[in-house]
Amino acid sequence: MEKRQFQAESKRLLEMMINSIYSQKEVFLRELISNASDAIDKIYYKALTDEELTFNQDDYYIKVVANKDDRTLKIIDTGIGMTKEELENNLGVIAKSGSLAFKTENEIKDGHDIIGQFGVGFYAAFMVADVVTVISRALGSDEAYKWQSEGADGYTIERTEKDEVGTEIILKMKENDEEESYDEYLDGYRLQTIIKKYSDFIRYPIKMDLTKSRKKEGSEDQYEDYVEEETINSMVPIWRKNKSELTTEDYENFYNEKRYGFDKPLKHIHISVDGTIRYNAILYIPENIPFDYYSKEYEKGLELYSNGVLIMNKCSDLLPDYFSFVKGLVDSEDLSLNISREMLQHDRQLKLIAKNINKKIKGELQSLLKNERDKYEIFYKAFGRQLKFGVYSDFGANKETLQDLLMFYSSKEKKMVTLDEYISRMPEEQKYIYYATGESIERIEKLPQTELVADKGYEILYFTEDIDEFAIKMLMTYQEKEFKSVSSGDLGIEENETDTESKDEENKELFNEMKDILAGKVKDVRVSKRLKSHPVCLTADGEVTIEMEKVLNAMPDNQNVKADKILEINSNHEVFEALKNAFANDKEKLSLYTNLLYNQALLIEGLPIQDPVEFTNDICKVML
Ligand code: ADP
Repeated sequence: MEKRQFQAESKRLLEMMINSIYSQKEVFLRELISNASDAIDKIYYKALTDEELTFNQDDYYIKVVANKDDRTLKIIDTGIGMTKEELENNLGVIAKSGSLAFKTENEIKDGHDIIGQFGVGFYAAFMVADVVTVISRALGSDEAYKWQSEGADGYTIERTEKDEVGTEIILKMKENDEEESYDEYLDGYRLQTIIKKYSDFIRYPIKMDLTKSRKKEGSEDQYEDYVEEETINSMVPIWRKNKSELTTEDYENFYNEKRYGFDKPLKHIHISVDGTIRYNAILYIPENIPFDYYSKEYEKGLELYSNGVLIMNKCSDLLPDYFSFVKGLVDSEDLSLNISREMLQHDRQLKLIAKNINKKIKGELQSLLKNERDKYEIFYKAFGRQLKFGVYSDFGANKETLQDLLMFYSSKEKKMVTLDEYISRMPEEQKYIYYATGESIERIEKLPQTELVADKGYEILYFTEDIDEFAIKMLMTYQEKEFKSVSSGDLGIEENETDTESKDEENKELFNEMKDILAGKVKDVRVSKRLKSHPVCLTADGEVTIEMEKVLNAMPDNQNVKADKILEINSNHEVFEALKNAFANDKEKLSLYTNLLYNQALLIEGLPIQDPVEFTNDICKVML
């Protein structure tokens, strides 16, 4: 019999399959089953328009038959079948698969993503089989044909007999090698698992003959094996069911079944859209942070199904980074099974779906915040940081979407509050939204810089995470109210303004002297407007705050960014008198006191002291 050649590009893909080092070879079954399902679809649609055809649901199924003795696996369908020409044209050529065209040689060598993520169709059979035989009889034809190939060097086609319309694919499994046991694809349990995993929601029954055990008739303790045909797939996916048919428990079970997490989801979102785009989705907001969530290893994404067939495990284009914690899946009839990643990225449908999903998640979080505050706070504890990153990143492009979801600890309420809540409580004369930064709530509580603002009775938001101040700087304002650090120069509280100015003027020489003593360490020394009971504090002039200096310097690519520090002195404190005295009478003492005060201010800020030994020596000097 004449051997025919594969078309050039098909040959290339085929070689890739044969030599594939791809670990998930199991997807071959998904591909063959989805082809079978498509073939049944075709009969089904034909029956809709062809009066002579009736579609009797029971006649249509897919059957998977494993035979360990001759190492074959059959995938049988009762679909539309193929004529001789169709066998030739469909299996000798990569029809519509665009996957290859987008890939460079190098990427193909590896082959991981295209094979793993997208349908490569029929050729996937060659990942596991040495010989692939296709016996098919097309609808409306009496003749059946057998197509056979052992790989890249070609295929044969010959006449054969087949009683029923449909297609039978016979895989002669490869021999086991060090890397792979092909035996597993002949094992009933393994096959069931693969079918459940990838093809559970195929609309037609996928049947297998399962060997089971039962008590022998009339015997108490003797068992016998028997074979029973069973449908492996559940056929109706949960996301196609009506919300009203489903309980919270159903959603939770599905979450666990899918291994989206080991926790219970905090909330599920079930979406069915039937408009210009059609899709179903089930999304979850987890309760706990996945252990790798804030690491590089974490991969965001939703499972993507095309009409019930899994085409991608983690479609990252469906979720923005700031909602990367969302788990779940999307199923759309409007996506093609064989779409490649590059095409997917530019797919208009997918973009619309992503946009839509994004809105739904936002809406769900808002309603959680409004109606189930406890749950929202649990959520925010786990993933609030991600929202804040979202505000900050992409130059603030998403701040509008996210700002009303933010929460911070409030000095007044002693709990987490939203910015809306803060604004709603602001007294009329209050100009700014005040915040204070520090390592912990306890520490901020004791910050001298908060004294004046707190004394005024204004609420202060406590920023305890690195990202907080950066996110807020990106936001700049909320409902036209500017954010203001309690450490910033102008607090907008015009008390004693002239008083401090005249004191600054009066003590100009003292402050200049102190500035010289602290040369290179502070930009200025002045009378504080914000201190009430503490003697000193550090504040910053300009864009970089002290907290930001800390964060930036802790980063691996430390740029040695420094805040312009101001040492503020409380002129109402007794210490100030001591400073004035020392300035008048004992310059050495002034130097000692100035260094002591500066180091104290550093400690209060949580900044390291340059020379701790000198500091302790200085304290001893005071005691003598
Ligand atoms: P795709 O399914 O993306 O078109 P494949 O390489 O998987 O690519 O299959 C090529 C073509 O072969 C299909 O489009 C279909 O026409 C035909 N085909 C494959 N399997 C079957 C089958 N079981 N029954 C009928 N036709 C099939």
